[in-house]
Amino acid sequence: MQGAFAGKYLRLNLSEGTTAVEEFPEETYRTFMGGAAMAASILMRELKPGVDPLGPENMLVFATCPLNGVPLSGMSRFTVAAKSPLTDGYGEGEAGGWWGPELKFAGFDGIIVTGQSPRPVYLWIVDGKAELRDAAHLWGKLSGEVQELATAETDKRARILQCGIAAERGNLMANVVNELKHFNGRSGLGAVMGSKKLRAIAVRGHDKLIPGDRDGLQAAVKWLREHYNRDGDGLHKFGTSRGVMVLNADGILPTRNFQEGQFEHAKAISGQTMAETILTHEGTCYACAIACKRDVDVPARQVSSKYGGPEYETIGSSGSVCGIGDLTAIAKFHQLCGEYVMDTISVGMTIAFAMECFERGILTTADTDGLELRFGNAEAMLVLAERIGKREGLGDLLALGSERAAAQIGRGAEQCVLTVKKQEIPMHDPRGKQGLSLAYATAPAGADHMRAPHDPLYEGIHPQGAHAFEPLGLAEPLKRLELSPRKVRAFCYASHWWAACSCIGVCHLASPANVVGITLVENAMRAATGWETNLWELIKVGERSKALARAFNCREGFTPKDDRLPKRLHEAFTSGPLKDVRVEPETFQRALRLYHQMEGWDPETGWPTFAKLAELGIEWAAKPGDTW
Ligand code: SF4
Repeated sequence: MQGAFAGKYLRLNLSEGTTAVEEFPEETYRTFMGGAAMAASILMRELKPGVDPLGPENMLVFATCPLNGVPLSGMSRFTVAAKSPLTDGYGEGEAGGWWGPELKFAGFDGIIVTGQSPRPVYLWIVDGKAELRDAAHLWGKLSGEVQELATAETDKRARILQCGIAAERGNLMANVVNELKHFNGRSGLGAVMGSKKLRAIAVRGHDKLIPGDRDGLQAAVKWLREHYNRDGDGLHKFGTSRGVMVLNADGILPTRNFQEGQFEHAKAISGQTMAETILTHEGTCYACAIACKRDVDVPARQVSSKYGGPEYETIGSSGSVCGIGDLTAIAKFHQLCGEYVMDTISVGMTIAFAMECFERGILTTADTDGLELRFGNAEAMLVLAERIGKREGLGDLLALGSERAAAQIGRGAEQCVLTVKKQEIPMHDPRGKQGLSLAYATAPAGADHMRAPHDPLYEGIHPQGAHAFEPLGLAEPLKRLELSPRKVRAFCYASHWWAACSCIGVCHLASPANVVGITLVENAMRAATGWETNLWELIKVGERSKALARAFNCREGFTPKDDRLPKRLHEAFTSGPLKDVRVEPETFQRALRLYHQMEGWDPETGWPTFAKLAELGIEWAAKPGDTW
């Protein structure tokens, strides 16, 4: 493969059981590159508005990125996107692991899935050939069994991506996972795959990426080898949960459904405690030296490292948010979500919602099939997680997510819901990171922590001691509790870069903060593609992905009113270091309005204006009737 692209997309029509190959012109790659922008452009062009997300008309797009397959840390991310059954709007999730690079080596930059199969099938792709196979024997099986069966039937070195039992049963928190450990999380994308009866995609490729500028790529690899100090990297040593105790000390470790910001058992669930107790290996993604993933074993709970181990989001969502300080129970929760292939954030937050309802008497044991669903009850949390996976008992209702469940429960249950656009908020509290309030409110797929950097980055962290965002012209340190025009500008610029990373394949954990800086990514893109590209062009691709996702949502009926925060985040902490701090509603509204203006989003309709879309070269995505 010359350059960074295979040059082909596979089209899979599941209603017809047919495949076809499509070659996009170079101009398409140059405009959208891959990942989030490529997926959003395909959905915006080809998907009719108003379709049932779980019906045959929805599409499911898998899009690799130009840097997938280069031998550099943190370059393995690829995108899955569709209309989301959880939010009824734009749904997107990125994952690392091994599947994205392998798909490219097998000859395809992506897969566009349409229709609905009449019976369970799986797709087997090897070296440019694609074959649909019967998957009746995989249906109803846990992900670990499917991984083993699909590998045995294809190639022992095949990479397996799949949805799970939760997806088969229409669970709106169902995910897509590759190699059992790497999740395209959020948005209920697994449910879309399950509705199409596409249980798995196995890929194997023997092609190699031949960079446009071999010396340039070698220089980037050498630079990273010389500058990355793995032994001194907390992300490697303790994983993403390295910061549990810091967040707790700062008063923003989400606790008991975000009612508090400090947890009495923070140390017991930290990455440091994990390293001393249940950790067996530091796992990794394709060619990544950082190895921030965790593999854990807990024999007493039948937890196996083949499912990896809990990351920070899982530790928060099933730990402190549920009032649970038992790391072995959290590891079991992680495995249950992996076996049924569910989003740990949404499932944990939905259980915390139910726990708060129980504590307030809105739910009783008559509703919970006898479970004493109190904060801190680890065994009840695990029973309920499995019931959500199977859609049994109360789990059948909770599988729709907390917002839909609250609407059915009534009796004031909605006061316990923390969602944006029906998606549960992740494990970061904007009261202590005020710029994050804009990310939660405006992320197209609903509250999402991976749509923008978090405020501590604006304070300045970088391996050379300079500011992380200096190449963006953001050299001025900004305090994390500030929500000012300066913060809005920083958020706007940095979120463009974050979006660009999701179009070129860069992991947000590896990117600007600590290891893989903006300049290195720019150099890697030039070398891999052979293009005379630079930060300007990459940022514009990121902006395009944001504008297209925004237009998609507006076409589905979203308005600026949907850019909001859960009420609880506008209420002040009553204790801890951030006592009396909240996201002040008027300041938030001013910042939100200013941000909309900076993005070029119409204040009435929310659509990107014709002028903004024309500036990005995608005026075809403008609101019908909006022209020049
Ligand atoms: S930093 Fe972690 S999540 Fe990101 S690519 Fe490396 S191992 Fe994977």
